[in-house]
Amino acid sequence: MNPKLDAIKQSDPETYDAIMGELQREQNKLILIASENYASPAVMEAQGSVFTNKYAEGYTNKRYYGGCEYVDIVESLAINRAKEIFAAEHVNVQAHSGSQANMSVFFSALRPGDKILGMDLRHGGHLTHGATVNFSGMIYENVFYGVDKETGYIDYEVVREQAIKHMPKMIVAGASAYSRTIDFKRFSAIAAEVNATLLADIAHIAGLVAAGLHPSPVPYADFVTSSTHKTLRGPRGGMIMCKEKYAKSIDKAVFPGVQGGPLMHVIAAKAVAFKEVLTDGFKAYQEQIIKNAQRLSNELKLRGYKIISGGTDTHLMLIDLRTKNITGREAEEALGLADITVNKNSIPYDDKPATVTSGIRLGTPALTTRGFTEGDMAVVADIIDKVITGHGQPNDSANVEAQRQRVKELCQKKPIYV
Ligand code: PLP
Repeated sequence: MNPKLDAIKQSDPETYDAIMGELQREQNKLILIASENYASPAVMEAQGSVFTNKYAEGYTNKRYYGGCEYVDIVESLAINRAKEIFAAEHVNVQAHSGSQANMSVFFSALRPGDKILGMDLRHGGHLTHGATVNFSGMIYENVFYGVDKETGYIDYEVVREQAIKHMPKMIVAGASAYSRTIDFKRFSAIAAEVNATLLADIAHIAGLVAAGLHPSPVPYADFVTSSTHKTLRGPRGGMIMCKEKYAKSIDKAVFPGVQGGPLMHVIAAKAVAFKEVLTDGFKAYQEQIIKNAQRLSNELKLRGYKIISGGTDTHLMLIDLRTKNITGREAEEALGLADITVNKNSIPYDDKPATVTSGIRLGTPALTTRGFTEGDMAVVADIIDKVITGHGQPNDSANVEAQRQRVKELCQKKPIYV
């Protein structure tokens, strides 16, 4: 990509410089944030298109504004492609983000004070699954399940016991930091037993689901939400899938319930991204994401790292750093100095606060997009290990500089923006 951005350069040099700085950062650093990716030039062109100018409250053929003939085309393209990818009965592509997709589902299916059973944030769940600082924790009553202390896997018997004990109105299946396959069929059996609605949040694993590499919740869940910018590699945004019987109420919950005008430029970019998902190369890309994650996890294990649950079935892994005498925050900072971008992350049963943490979360979608394969992941694991084990040692800065040079070589070998 070679964005000239001549207009911004002329009108707003400060913003131009920030964009160019970000471009260099994404080009020259190893992005291992599990929720990030590089959208294609075509997706970004759509997102930067004239659709940003258009108001289109309402839905296709039922708009509250004139001049919607072209937005109707792109919104229908996005919806029909998403239906084809996920075999969904109904799709809403207007949700501005994954969080607003979840909010819309809650608003359509719950009343304030209703009970939700979700995955504990500290065990890998998301803020919108009932955290007290989030609307989901403020408006609803929340109870949680987590992962088993020994195995790091979700214990479905515990989920079932929690469901029977608390009789929630809704169960949320899905996570931000869980590396194992989620058994949506099992979740749906539990939800049926207690007469709860099931929401599957596939924000992280949507690409894997689209490629058939993770079992789909669509046949089992009443509602399926996702963000579109993680493994799915689309623009920053959200989407909702549901059974036809919920179509009207979900659409009403998104607009006018939670949002006003849809972001039509983002919806156009979703349409472009979904077309990419339907190409042959997409499955191979998702397969490579998993192979890379498994190789990275194995190489780190060989170097003495403890991976929560012992490994990964997906695009991400959670590393318990307690055996390495470094906190998540320190590791994030140290790796950052070596041009490796990761995020600190609480591990299950963590005794450190969320601002410190005992772990880091690593994911491979972005590196896989820039063409990294298993051999590269072995080098990445070695660099990560050298930075972490060298942290606080007398020759720390020389070590970091040496690892930074190795990162530079990897990035130059496989550039993302050419
Ligand atoms: N759900 C899950 C499981 C997520 O991991 C995330 C984002 O990290 C979201 C929802 C929210 O997505 P967004 O950041 O687009 O609001």
